[in-house]
Amino acid sequence: MSRILLVEDDESLLFEVRRAIEHEGHQVVGVETIGEARQALDADGFDLIVLDWGLPDGSGVEFCTELRQAGENASILMLTGRSLPAEKVQGLDSGADDYLTKPFHLKELTLRVRSLVGRSQRPLQRQVIETKDLVLDEGKRLVTKKGTPIELTIKEFALLEFFMRNRDRVYSLDELLNHIWVAEEEAAPDTVRTHIKNLRKKLDNPGEESVIQNVHGFGYRFIG
Ligand code: CA
Repeated sequence: MSRILLVEDDESLLFEVRRAIEHEGHQVVGVETIGEARQALDADGFDLIVLDWGLPDGSGVEFCTELRQAGENASILMLTGRSLPAEKVQGLDSGADDYLTKPFHLKELTLRVRSLVGRSQRPLQRQVIETKDLVLDEGKRLVTKKGTPIELTIKEFALLEFFMRNRDRVYSLDELLNHIWVAEEEAAPDTVRTHIKNLRKKLDNPGEESVIQNVHGFGYRFIG
């Protein structure tokens, strides 16, 4: 397990990147500003810093240069929306070890993280959850229904994982929103409804009771 500091001011990206890196078995501290990053680095050592270029209180590249001048020896992975070659050179000149241009696939990110923190790392919390027809493999981020892989979006996966871990319990829309869409301002109860609808489409057997039951007046219960 490595300790990773993630500095990213886009809340939903912070959430998803944190989740992806935690799934690799690492410990992640997530912050949204350079100021918070400084505090975290003062308090603790990190093996890797994943650093966004554009932050509310300054430039990630300048911060990276500053860290190197101060003798910081953690690996640094820069995240940025800018992909011009000259800027790429500037990014690496600042002392970053690697560079990832947004938008990127989380898979690409986890591969870079793996190569920066060492290939010997093994996920700690790889876990497989099984119900009647479904198998969810957290480590592989794979869901199968009677052996057939089901393609899910990141949020559908997160929602299903939550349901499978808390089978037979009833959750209101607000509770689901708070568990799965943490700190995402655009998410609303309708977002949850849409994801439940999509999960049902992907998971239910035609003509049979849905794996996600409506509990009238209360919310939803997973019975799959
Ligand atoms: Ca940013």
